[in-house]
Amino acid sequence: MVQVIAHERQIANTFLNPPDCRLFIFLYSFPRYLVRMRILVIEDEPHMLELLRKGLYEREFSVMTAVDGETGLEIASTYQFDSIVLDIGLPKLDGYGVISALRSRAQMAPVLILTARDAEDDIIRGLELGADDYLTKPFSFAELVARLQSITRRRRHEEGGTIEAGDVVVDPIRRSVTRNKLSIDLTRNEFLLLVCLARRTGQCVTRQTLMEFVWGPDHFVRPNTLDFLVNALRAKIDTPFPRKLIGTVRGAGYIFKHSEAMPAEAAQ
Ligand code: CA
Repeated sequence: MVQVIAHERQIANTFLNPPDCRLFIFLYSFPRYLVRMRILVIEDEPHMLELLRKGLYEREFSVMTAVDGETGLEIASTYQFDSIVLDIGLPKLDGYGVISALRSRAQMAPVLILTARDAEDDIIRGLELGADDYLTKPFSFAELVARLQSITRRRRHEEGGTIEAGDVVVDPIRRSVTRNKLSIDLTRNEFLLLVCLARRTGQCVTRQTLMEFVWGPDHFVRPNTLDFLVNALRAKIDTPFPRKLIGTVRGAGYIFKHSEAMPAEAAQ
């Protein structure tokens, strides 16, 4: 029996009811940096899981949990996390299987693995498969928090770089977009949608992932709001150009196509 416990942030209200226009602009400019850090903990030992969940929540993290590898992988593939705490010995799918599957799906959330003391082979294998750091049990909570903050900062720094997808260049820091060297003016939500798609060029991005990225995990928007937003983005980034980049994957999501490799007539 699997239990999934979600403790979501309450700061969403701040976004929905901005008390001050300047704050509104500031918050909307850096939406992912001002919310609670979102952590997924995948651990099968009930006492350890509760310790982690409670301790992280008390330290202002937003925590979701899973008690087996399959469920953890499903949650990690569905929602966005700032980092993942992953036990290696797990039922159904072990920690190695979880990391491999995540990385093969281009899910790049940083992963911190938990291992038994002196399990050097576990650590090496985990890091080789794509884990970002490790802790051996028992560990201090202060160290866990420091490590999580460190791997998250590192990943954000990496993500902060310019995204180049064919003739489209997206600069998340300057919040600018050009296509074929022409500047394109996007709204905040259009920009976030483009960043989410362009970072995963050539891959289907699920509707859930896109909605989470744009509106956050506590969003209350209707599903067709995403379709309206995609159409608005297409009007700016695709309509003026012969090659169409944003494709629909029916029943699943959207895909940002490689511009140089795609004939215009194949695009939607
Ligand atoms: Ca275990």
